[in-house]
Order: sequence, then structure tokens, then C-alpha cells
Amino acid sequence: MDMLPSPSDRWQSTLHWQPSDRQQQSFQLLYDAILAANQQVNLTRITTPEDFWEKHLWDSLQGVAPWLTGASTDPLKVVDVGTGGGFPGLPVALVFPHWAIALLDATRKKLVALETVCETLGIANVSFLPQRAEQVAHQPIHREAYDLALLRAVGPVNTCAEYALPLLTLGGQAILYRGQWSADEEAGLTAILPRLGGKLLEVRSQTTPLTQGVRHNVILTKVERTPDKFPRLPGIPSKTPLV
Ligand code: SAM
Repeated sequence: MDMLPSPSDRWQSTLHWQPSDRQQQSFQLLYDAILAANQQVNLTRITTPEDFWEKHLWDSLQGVAPWLTGASTDPLKVVDVGTGGGFPGLPVALVFPHWAIALLDATRKKLVALETVCETLGIANVSFLPQRAEQVAHQPIHREAYDLALLRAVGPVNTCAEYALPLLTLGGQAILYRGQWSADEEAGLTAILPRLGGKLLEVRSQTTPLTQGVRHNVILTKVERTPDKFPRLPGIPSKTPLV
């Protein structure tokens, strides 16, 4: 087994937080289990220890940095839309065992593989939604049911907003993990958010600690109920993002 790096100084200098020994061990177990599952199902192309640490573990957790250092122990309901190989949802589930994390992805076989990963690691605060976001968001038990929605690498920002806002409670937040971020993208997003009942709260920028990559977290909040017509039919939000 390859050993993950454990650069506590990098966690500390970037996120003002560092994992406990137990959390560090759980990251190693997650790495081993994801790599084992990756032999059967294509979960990730990020497989070297350094890349996995930076692009999956560190990156997943930097999006929820305010909760890492905050005092809140509220048991949040979280949905990771388009979780793929379990990111950002699984590292978040390991660090916040009192949060309930729903991993949502349209590709059923990825979620079946993640179920095995979670069984192997004894991760009990995770559930699985093998469906499209456009369908889940119209189901009464999921609509307006989540305090936090996480979306990384799931499509254009306006598509992500259309997936996320119907799932949020009033006052809930969506964290859109982005790479580069431009004034044009921000203008396009702020123009459509009122139609979805959303508002742009802030854009936080980060530099990745090993390779100095650019990251932006775009934070939305829900200020009004989302009209029932959103999200539109499966496939439409990605083919024709709102403008
Ligand atoms: N979030 C992961 C990450 O950052 O490593 C995976 C990103 S992968 C590029 C995008 C994932 O989103 C795929 O697994 C795909 O099946 C899923 N996806 C895309 N559109 C979706 C939708 N409308 N509903 C559910 N899942 C979707």
C-alpha cells in the first residue's frame, strides 16, 4: 500500500485546522479502499498519494473550511450532487460524523462501489441516491430538505445552481467547487439566481498547497422557495443552462 503524505503544516497554514491521528488513519483507509474499488469501476484518475491528498482530501475539505474551525456541532443534512468517486462527500463524512451525507450520482455502478467502500470502512453517516439530480429534486422527501449542497466538477455554474437550489432548505447553502472564476461567470450566475430563489453569498479563493493550483468556492444561499418548475427535465439544465 502507498502511504499518503500527512503534512500537518499544510493543513494548518491553509485551513487553520489539522486532522487528528484517527482522521489521518481514516484518510489512509479511504485511499486504500478507493484504489481497490477503482480496479472494478472507474471512480477516479487521481491515484498517486500526493495527488489524492491534495486534489481529493485537501480540496474536498477546503470547501467546508468554515465548519472545520467553527464551534457549531449542528447535525447538518448534506447532499453531494454528482459525487462520482465520493468527492467531496466522503472526506466530509469522515471529518463530520454527526452530519448525514447523501451521495447523489446518476451513475449507479459508482454508487454501488462507494457503498462497498463505506461498508469496508464502517462509514455509517452516508446514504446513496443513484439518480439524476433533476429527478431527486422533485421528490418531496428531498426537495428543500438539505442544509448544505456540495457540487464539484458537475458542469457549468448555472447548471449547478439549478441542481442545488431546489434541494436546499430556506437559509441553506450550496458550495460550488470551481477552478478558475471570472467576472463574466459571476455576472451570468447572479442574473439567474433570483429565478431559483437563490443569492450569491460570497466567492472564496484558495491556492492548493502542493501544486499552487487555483480554487474558488462559490457560495450560494437560498432566500426564497424555488418555483416548482425547477430543475427542468433531465438533461435540460446541462444542455441549455439558464441565462
Ligand atoms: N464530484 C466528483 C469529483 O469532483 O471528483 C465527480 C465529478 S465527475 C466529473 C461528475 C459526476 O457527476 C459524474 O459521476 C456524473 O455521473 C455526475 N452527474 C453529472 N450530471 C448529473 C446529474 N444531472 N445528476 C446526477 N449526477 C450527475
